[in-house]
Formats: sequence, C-alpha cells, structure tokens
Amino acid sequence: MTKYVYDFTEGGKDDKDLLGGKGANLAEMTKLGLPVPPGFTISTDACRAYLEQGQEPDGLADEVSTYLAAMEEARGKRLGDPHDPLLVSVRSGAKFSMPGMMETVLNVGLNDESVKGLAVVADGNERFAYDSYRRLLQMFGSTVLGIEASVFHDALDELKAARDTRNDLDLTADDLSGLVETYKKLVAEHSGRDFPQDPREQLDMAVRAVFESWNTERAVLYRRQERIPHDLGTAVNVCSMVFGNVGADSGTGVAFTRDPASGAQGVYGDYLQNAQGEDVVAGIRNTVPLADLEQIDKSAYDELLTTMALLEGHYRDLCDIEFTVEHGKLWMLQTRVGKRTAEAAFRIATQLADQGLIDLDEAVARVTGAQLAQLMFPRFDTDAERTLIARGMNASPGAAVGRVVFDSPTATEWAARGDDVILVRRTTTPDDLAGMVAAKGILTSRGGKTSHAAVVARGMGRTCVCGADDLDVDVKGRRFTAADGTVVEEGDVISIDGTTGEVFVGAVEVVDSLVVRYFEGDETAGGDELVQAVTRLMEHADGVRRLQVRANADTPEDAARARRFGAQGIGLCRTEHMFLGDRRELVERLILAEDAKEQQAALAALLPLQRDDFTGILEAMDGLPVTIRLLDPPLHEFLPDYTELAVQVALEEERGEDDPHTRQLFDAVKRLHEDNPMLGLRGVRLGIVIPGLFTMQARAILEAAAARTAAGGDPQPEIMIPLVAAPQELELMKAEVIAVAAEVEKETGTKLRFKIGTMIELPRAVMLAEEIAGSAEFFSFGTNDLTQMTWGFSRDDVEASFFSTYLDKGVFAVSPFESLDTEGVGKLVAHAVSKGRAARPDLHLGVCGEHGGDPDSIHFFDSVGLDYVSCSPYRVPVARLEAGRSATA
Ligand code: PEP
Ligand code: MG
Repeated sequence: MTKYVYDFTEGGKDDKDLLGGKGANLAEMTKLGLPVPPGFTISTDACRAYLEQGQEPDGLADEVSTYLAAMEEARGKRLGDPHDPLLVSVRSGAKFSMPGMMETVLNVGLNDESVKGLAVVADGNERFAYDSYRRLLQMFGSTVLGIEASVFHDALDELKAARDTRNDLDLTADDLSGLVETYKKLVAEHSGRDFPQDPREQLDMAVRAVFESWNTERAVLYRRQERIPHDLGTAVNVCSMVFGNVGADSGTGVAFTRDPASGAQGVYGDYLQNAQGEDVVAGIRNTVPLADLEQIDKSAYDELLTTMALLEGHYRDLCDIEFTVEHGKLWMLQTRVGKRTAEAAFRIATQLADQGLIDLDEAVARVTGAQLAQLMFPRFDTDAERTLIARGMNASPGAAVGRVVFDSPTATEWAARGDDVILVRRTTTPDDLAGMVAAKGILTSRGGKTSHAAVVARGMGRTCVCGADDLDVDVKGRRFTAADGTVVEEGDVISIDGTTGEVFVGAVEVVDSLVVRYFEGDETAGGDELVQAVTRLMEHADGVRRLQVRANADTPEDAARARRFGAQGIGLCRTEHMFLGDRRELVERLILAEDAKEQQAALAALLPLQRDDFTGILEAMDGLPVTIRLLDPPLHEFLPDYTELAVQVALEEERGEDDPHTRQLFDAVKRLHEDNPMLGLRGVRLGIVIPGLFTMQARAILEAAAARTAAGGDPQPEIMIPLVAAPQELELMKAEVIAVAAEVEKETGTKLRFKIGTMIELPRAVMLAEEIAGSAEFFSFGTNDLTQMTWGFSRDDVEASFFSTYLDKGVFAVSPFESLDTEGVGKLVAHAVSKGRAARPDLHLGVCGEHGGDPDSIHFFDSVGLDYVSCSPYRVPVARLEAGRSATA
C-alpha cells in the first residue's frame, strides 16, 4: 500500500516532489538537529489521490493516527486533551512556493473543554486560551467551512468598537470568551452545522480543506502565471503548535540570511513580541527590526544567528526563515531558499562563489536571463508616485516618460525639437518606423507580443506596451480615453512600463541602468559592485557556452551596439526597412513599371542606396558574419493603403479630376491586394516573380563586400533567401546570386568570400530539409513564421484576439510566439537539423525568430545542436548568459 504520511524525521530537502517545499525543508532542519516542533507531512501523493477520488485514499486515516500518536508521544500531550491539550497547525506546502494561495488552520485541537485546560497549563492565562480558540473558529470557519472572512472580522470590529478600542490586545479574557460564543453562532448560522468539537474531526476536515485549496480559482490563476504544472498537488504539514503569544518572553519573526532586496550580508528581518505569525501579516502591530531581538532576548538571538549561519552554509544560498520564541525557547517553523530581486541574485551568486560555497558554474546557474534583462532596462523609481490608467502587454521592457503624440511625423518633429515623446497608435505599421525611432516609448491599443510594434520596439530596445485594449485611441481627435474616463490629449505627459505593461498619467521618475552604460563602454560604470558581479558571471558564461550569439540588426548603429553587447555577428539583417522613407518612390516605380526597361531603371536607382546600407553594416561587423536576408514582406506594404486610395480616387472622380498617377497607383494596389498577404506574394516568391530584384540586392551586398575587401577589411556576408518551400526556389535564386557574384568579381578584380543559405520558415521546407541543404550552406530558422504556419495562427492578430482564452483554458501556458512550442514547432526544428546535417555535415545552423532571445527557447536550441541564436541587440547579453547556463546545466 502507498505510504502517504512522513514524520519530520523521515525526509530531507530533496523530497520536494513528495513532501512539498515546506515539508521537505522542515524534515531537513529536523535532520540537522535544529529545534523544529515535532510533526508530520501528508504527501502530495495523498493530495493527488484525494483530488482524483473525491475522498481520502484508503489507509490515510490510519496512517495519520499512527503519526499523530508519535507526535503526541514526542510532545507528551494528547490532541484535544481537556487538561493539557496538544494543538496542531495544518499548513499547505506545494513543491513550488505559492505564497498566500492555499490554506492554513492553526490551533486545531481546541474545543469548549480543552480551552479551559489550555488556560490552566498556560499559567492561568485565560486571555491567551480564548484568543487561541477564537482564532481557530475564525480560520476554520473561513477556510474549512467556506464562510466569508468578513463575517468574523465584522464581529471582532463590533466588539472592539463596543470596548472603545482599535487594538486586539485591549480585549479581556471575558471579551474573547464572549467572542468565541458569537463565532460559534456565526459558524452554525452560515455553514448550517456546529463547529466540530471532536479534535480529530477538526484535523481531518482541515487536511481536506488544504487538499481542496489546490484547485481554488486564485491558486489555479497563480500557477498559470508562474507556469507551475496543475497536476502536482500540495502536501499538508501537521505540526505541533508552539506559541509566540504567551507573554513578553515570547514572540515571532522572520529572518533572511542576506538582504533579499540588495543581496547585502547582515541581519535582516522583523520581530514581533508576544504575537503569533498572522499578527505580523495582518499588520495589527508594528514589528521591530530583527537586530532588536538582541536586546529583548540575547540567548534566543544568538541561537537564531548561529542557526541562520548554519542554514546558509548548508543550503549554500540565501535562506528565509520563520521562527517563534516560546518562553525564551527558539523554535524553527520554516526555512527555504529565499526569493530575491534581480540585483540581489547577481550579488549573492558572486558572494557565494567568493566564499567558496559554490563554483562559478553554479553561480551562473543561480541567475537568469530574465533577471539580467531586468537590470538592463531603465526602470521607474519604486518610491515614486503613480496613477495607473491602463494595462496592456509588456511587449518590450523599460520605463519611458514623454508627451503623447499620435503619428509618426509629429513624433519626429517634436523629438527633433528636444521633446521626449510616447507614440500612441491603435497598431503600428512599417510607416510608423521613423516615429518609433524618435519616440522614447510606444503604446498601442491593439496587437500582441509579436505585433509589428512589439517586434520592432524590442529590436530597437524601445519601451513598448501593446494591446492595451481598454484605451480608446482617437488618432483624428488627437486624444485617447482610458476605461476610467481619463482623457489624455496630444502633448500630455504619460509614463509607460514595458516590464509590467502598465500605463500611468503624468511623469514617473526613471532610473538609468548602470549595466547598460557599462556594456555601452562607460568605464566609470565598471566600478559599481553590481556591474562587476554581472560582468564576472557573463565572462564565465561566455567561457563555457557552446552556442554562439548573434544579433538581428538592420542598421550600422544597431550592428555596432550589438557588437558592444557581445554579438558574434548578425544573424538577421532585414532589408525591408531600407525600402521605406525616401526610397518609397523608387519602390513604387519598380512596382508600377510597365516594361522591363522601367523596372531595370528603378532597380538601378536603388542599387547604390542599398550598397551604402550594406557598407555601413559590414564595416560595423568587420571580421564577423553578417546574414542579410533578401526582401521578404508582401509588396503592398510599400504602397499606399488600399481603402484610402479608393476613397481618394472616388473623390477625384467626383470632382471630375483624373490624376493618372493616382489611378495607376490604385490599379497596382488593387492588383497586388491579397486577402492573406502573409500567405501570398512574399519571400522568395518576390525574387522569382520580379526579375532583377534579388539580383540587385545580391549585387549591392557583394559590391559593398568587394569594396571593403579592397580597403583591407574582412567582410563576411551571408546571403539569405526567405520563405523557401521548395528546393527549386532556392536553386533558382542561388543561380542568380552566383552569376552576379562572378560579374562583381570580374568587375572589381576582388575574390569574394560569401555564403548562400535559406530560412526555414515553412513546414514543407522542414520536410524537404535534406534536399534544400543540397543548395544551402546554412539554415536559419525563422521561428516566427514557422510558428505561424505550423499552428495556423496569424502572428499579427492572434495574441490580441483569442490567446487569452487559450491561456485561460490551459491549451498552452505561454504564447508559442514568445517561447518556442518545443512539442510541435521544436520537433520540426529538430527534424530539419538532423536531415539538413545528414545531407551536409558542415551545414551551419541558427535561429533568427523572436525565440532566439527567449531563455527557455535558447536552452532548447542548444539541446538540438544549433550553432547560434540571433536576437535583438538588447537581448544579446541575456542570450549569452542563458547559453552559458544551458552549457553548465
Ligand atoms: C521569422 O519568421 O522568424 C523571421 C525571423 O522573419 P520575420 O519575422 O521577418 O518574418
Ligand atoms: Mg519570417
């Protein structure tokens, strides 16, 4: 038969799956000989069985009896004994801490008789006994019997009002004994049953309530947010009670072995004299700093400090501790490896390495890319005042403050005159790029984390909140309205937090990141202790990682920044942005061209401009590979909007005007209009359908490379063909590129060194990876499109439309556009890797979709053997760190 119950003497810290975090650590402390009150843990197996069967599994009740008897023996008291009752606490404790999410019942074992016995053994302290009983009634009533907590709070408040006090401590034993009667009546009235007087029934009901609290709405929600699996269940810890509220020589407190906010070493925590733990939580009385305990009770304080040092050395990490002092005796009620801020995580990891408690591999494992990302963005001063008006998706982290503008030209104009601006749009399009560059932050009311606004903002390291759908954005009226009715006009100041997705009216104080200043070359920042901790761990991560890290960058400035941030090349240079702005007219000419000659003329005019684009980027990345992707998006993105143009044509007709250019443009836009442009004329299809387009781009790249080589540089271009589905498509384009390369070599007299490869973005390309590898020197997984095409989700729409329902229903725990769907899309990646390498063992493999900067996805890419990940420049350090963590895992 399955064993469901474990004495605290039976387990250890590695048994979290079975005993939950709290139970495992209580067992560990017991094993270390620390003063833990005797008790036992009912395992997560029992919880799962209970939830499955809807009742206690066979044998559980008997086991509880056996372990209860052992606890009674150890304490020399019996549960609910009318003369000297043993009381127990019943606490939840899952594998992963879920603070405040599940239930706790204290003082189980009190009833109308044993309360009197408790008063006698507590040296006649009736007040304490009745206070304990009313606490049990209150906790039992609300958590086990499901009565609204306010029912009890209101009765307590009424009593305090009648006694003309606001402090519980002013209530007398008689007051509390009267309150017990009131509570019992309330229990009967609201639950339809009397409070159980049988201590064992109390215990069994409390255990059941803890099991059931695993599935409360708030617990489910918390698990979803924290990505904790729903099938783990919780353990239940039944611990003999010790009391901090039996006089001035007693008390309760929390302690940290280091400051969880800064990581500094010292004595951190709070103490509350003559109190129980929930008094601290309820904030009824003010705690004193833990250091004050030295004055209050030197011997308990010294023992606590020795215990803290022992626990930290044993766990080799920051521990947080809950303890109680009962008549001068120290009792340990809980410990665990403590949560900490990002800053503290880096400091503590390096301190522990310096102390020789952990090695640098482990130090790197103790910090995360997400924590590093937090340190890299400016943030709002935590003490600053703020007024929240909306929440959207945290699309690109950071804190931005500025005047609201509603279009790109205004953003550029106001920024040029020195204003900080926040560009607010319903959604953004490539047309808004200049405004996005000029703005400090971007706020949209529609679109998800892979919407245009989000992707571009992340790429630029610009703060972005997207999909704040409570905001009504009225671009024409130049204002937006929040759900609470707040109207923000153009020019008003707002603050947006891209780390939390929050939007505030007015200016919130911002603090710069020293870590970024250091990466950017500001040596003075290197003196900062936190920066030193970060650099030390980064250096170690760089030393151990196998996976290389490149950047997605489209401009020389981004390329240079990426290099400063440690990028080992460019994994994706998107060329579409180079076709906007002043060049839009040339692109229009290309699209409107009526014959080959006009088309060639338009291409010839674009060529020198493109060459300059590539010259700057190859220079910034000299000596490192630069993967340049030939034009990918559907052409209509470079033309005016279909509807707007239709209106214009209709108006012109009405006025009897007939501008041939408008008409020609409208015809072209109509011709190119597609219902599903993402599945339309884009990627390699453009190269095949528009003769000379890809050749022009290839020529621009190769001429730029030839010029750099001639100037003594070391350009390493890699020409990448997007959205290939068939080997034939790649072969057609490859032939063109090779032909143009031969021409450029001849014209310049320079030997060119370059690669030709493809993106893997379509399931068909995955299935034909072996054949495609015949013509490709490299594959770069475009996991944005691969996710879109595999799931059949439109990446631009889906996150704002039904993803929240999918997340709520648990179809997935996180958007597959954010973190790679390793079960589905990941299998396609793995398949293409193995087939591609089978055909060409030296095939170079990378990923350039958004997942290249996502910590979990990076570990996956390392595990399937990719050579590099490529991500936006600001995520490069995060990716380096995660690649290091993956290597040491
Ligand atoms: C991709 O599809 O993953 C990719 C990198 O290309 P884009 O996002 O430009 O479509
Ligand atoms: Mg793509």
